[in-house]
Amino acid sequence: MQLRVLGCSGGIGGSLRTTSFLIDSDILLDAGTGVGDLSIEQLLGIDHIFITHSHLDHIACIPLLADTVLGLRDKPVNVHATVETWQIISEHIFNWKVWPDFTVIPNPDQPILAWKEIRLGQTVMLGNRRITPVPANHVVPAVGFHLEGERSSLIFSGDTTICDALWAYANCTGNLQYLLIETAFSNDEAEMAKLSKHLCPALLLDELAKLEHSPQVFITHLKPGEGDIIMQEIVSGAPAGMRIQALDHGHIFEL
Ligand SMILES: [Zn+2]
Ligand SMILES: [Zn+2]
Repeated sequence: MQLRVLGCSGGIGGSLRTTSFLIDSDILLDAGTGVGDLSIEQLLGIDHIFITHSHLDHIACIPLLADTVLGLRDKPVNVHATVETWQIISEHIFNWKVWPDFTVIPNPDQPILAWKEIRLGQTVMLGNRRITPVPANHVVPAVGFHLEGERSSLIFSGDTTICDALWAYANCTGNLQYLLIETAFSNDEAEMAKLSKHLCPALLLDELAKLEHSPQVFITHLKPGEGDIIMQEIVSGAPAGMRIQALDHGHIFEL
C-alpha cells in the first residue's frame, strides 16, 4: 500500500495544495486542491474517495472530479463518508444550486458518484488494504483514518483539536509507524485554534504526550506563511528523540 501526498497545506498559493492523498492509484484520502494535479488518466483510475469531513479544503475537487470523469467511466466513484458528513455535502454542495447532484447523474441507477457509509472503528477492506475511520474532534463531524498495509500502519488525524478518543484508539494499535497530524495555527493563535477546533504547537505537544507509541510524526495543515514558526515552536517544545517534521507534498509512504 502506497500513500502519496498530493496536498497537505492549510491553504493555496504557489506550490501549496490543500489536503489530499493518493493511495496506490485508485483511492483518494480527502480530495482537496492537490487532486487537481492528477492527469485525466489518473483521475479516471480513482474508484474510491474517503473523506474526513465536509470542509471545502478537504472536498474541493470531488464536484470537479465527478464532472470530469462523467461519461468516461462505466462504474461509479465510491465516496466513503459518515452519514453526518454526507448529509452536509448533499445539502450544501450537490444541491443543484452550488453543483448538480452527481448521485443521480447520468441516471439514478448508474450514477457517477455513490455514497458508501463509513462508521468509526469499522474497517473497509479493499484488497489487502485496510482503512478504518478513527475519532477526531472538529467543528463539524469529522474522522481521521488508520491505514494498514502489509508491512506497517499509519494514522492520519484529519482536522482535529484535543481528542482523547483518538489516542485511546492509537494506543491499541500495533505496528504504528507513522502519525500524520495537523497543526493549523501557531501558539500566538491558540485562541483561534481552540475556537476553530484545530491544534497549535502547545496543544499538539500535550496531545502527543498521550501517545504510548513512538511513530515518526509528520505535521500537516500548516497555515500558509506560518509554517516555519509553527514548526519551530513544535520542535523546540518536543521531547528529545521524538522524530517530528513537516509533511511535504510529494512525500511517499510505503505501508
Ligand atoms: Zn476542517
Ligand atoms: Zn482543513
